[in-house]
Amino acid sequence: MEQQLIKIGGGGVASLSCAINLRLAGFDVLIYEKNQDAGWHRHNDWQGLENWTNDEDVLEFLRRINIKVNFPNHPCFEAIGLDADLNRYPVKSQKPLFYLIKRGLGLNSFDQYLKKQAEEIGVQFEFNKSVKPEEAEIIGTGRRNAEKFFGMALGITFETDLPNTVLCLLDNNIAPQAYAYLIVVNNQATLAACFITLKKHLKAGRQHLEEAIKQFQKVAGFSIQNPRYFSGSANLGFIKDKSRIYIGEAGGLQDGFLGFGMRYALLSGYLAAQSIVKSSNYQAAAKIYWQTVEKEIYPIIRTSIVNRFIYEFFTNKTYKWLLGKISKKTDIRKFVQKQYQPAFYKNLLFPIIKLKSRKYLIH
Ligand SMILES: Cc1cc2nc3c(=O)[nH]c(=O)nc-3n(C[C@H](O)[C@H](O)[C@H](O)COP(=O)(O)OP(=O)(O)OC[C@H]3O[C@@H](n4cnc5c(N)ncnc54)[C@H](O)[C@@H]3O)c2cc1C
Repeated sequence: MEQQLIKIGGGGVASLSCAINLRLAGFDVLIYEKNQDAGWHRHNDWQGLENWTNDEDVLEFLRRINIKVNFPNHPCFEAIGLDADLNRYPVKSQKPLFYLIKRGLGLNSFDQYLKKQAEEIGVQFEFNKSVKPEEAEIIGTGRRNAEKFFGMALGITFETDLPNTVLCLLDNNIAPQAYAYLIVVNNQATLAACFITLKKHLKAGRQHLEEAIKQFQKVAGFSIQNPRYFSGSANLGFIKDKSRIYIGEAGGLQDGFLGFGMRYALLSGYLAAQSIVKSSNYQAAAKIYWQTVEKEIYPIIRTSIVNRFIYEFFTNKTYKWLLGKISKKTDIRKFVQKQYQPAFYKNLLFPIIKLKSRKYLIH
């Protein structure tokens, strides 16, 4: 594109990935972030960079899209699943199932490392500046519509005496149609209850979290020092307006099944940068971008929506069966990977689900 300055709305991971790639291609880049810093709206909680979408290791993927892998990360090879009766189901993975990273303002956070990489190559930031979509070429402003939450998490971060652990509880009374988790790395813990909800059902959230804390305490009996509460939400959907470039969650590019949206956000930022680099004008760039998203991201998202639809029929009994089944697998990653791949029957189901959930899925 002839235009030399590209403005990006939002300073999340999608935008930072886009900015780094545009800058490396020689563009001037300005990020407008409504908060005072990158990662400000995160909570120094542990999140996982998932490693199952395809065979490419996610750290290799980051290198391929020009993100430096110099940030602290912790590969997770094993976890323990729990059913509603707190039976344990250990699961193992031959390659890392995900890499745990910190999100937020802390010096070791993924957000801060990405920001630093961007700054070092000359990306400009304007903090405390909220922008409308039409004020930027690239829109990476995160989740779109508060009325259309599909996933909500309430959690706490704290320091603890517990050794490193990853526990995942499947119980519809505590984490309806989702999961609760406890992650400890180097005595720093994140515990959260995730559930599917609309905004009007949010009140029950605090109760879900308190119950989740109780259940994990029964299993692992740990100390909680310096607890800090947090909440977060996600939504996804298909954007009607394809004349502009929306990346990450702003573009509905989120994992509709389990909410592991970072990889799609980072990829979409990269694809947006590529489309700008390859095109002579903005409209052509937007066209190329959405064509690539259709090819590289939408198939996984469609499958994740079908997975979610099926998962929402699961009861505590079904979870018990599922946990029993996956704990017998020698490689849980392969199993999860298979669920994320498009399949004939999932392709058939998708249009029906889309029609039924139009209100939530089409923005
Ligand atoms: C509790 C929780 C746990 C999660 N765990 C995981 C996990 O383990 N693994 C995983 O892969 N994903 C996880 N996710 C999802 C993941 O965090 C998101 O998919 C990802 O961060 C989306 O990146 P993004 O850049 O699109 O948006 P965001 O990270 O939301 O960034 C958007 C940015 O835009 C800014 N902004 C918003 N509006 C404006 C405006 N008008 N003008 C300027 N700036 C604006 C915001 O302040 C923000 O900094 C989790 C989400 C939550 C809430």
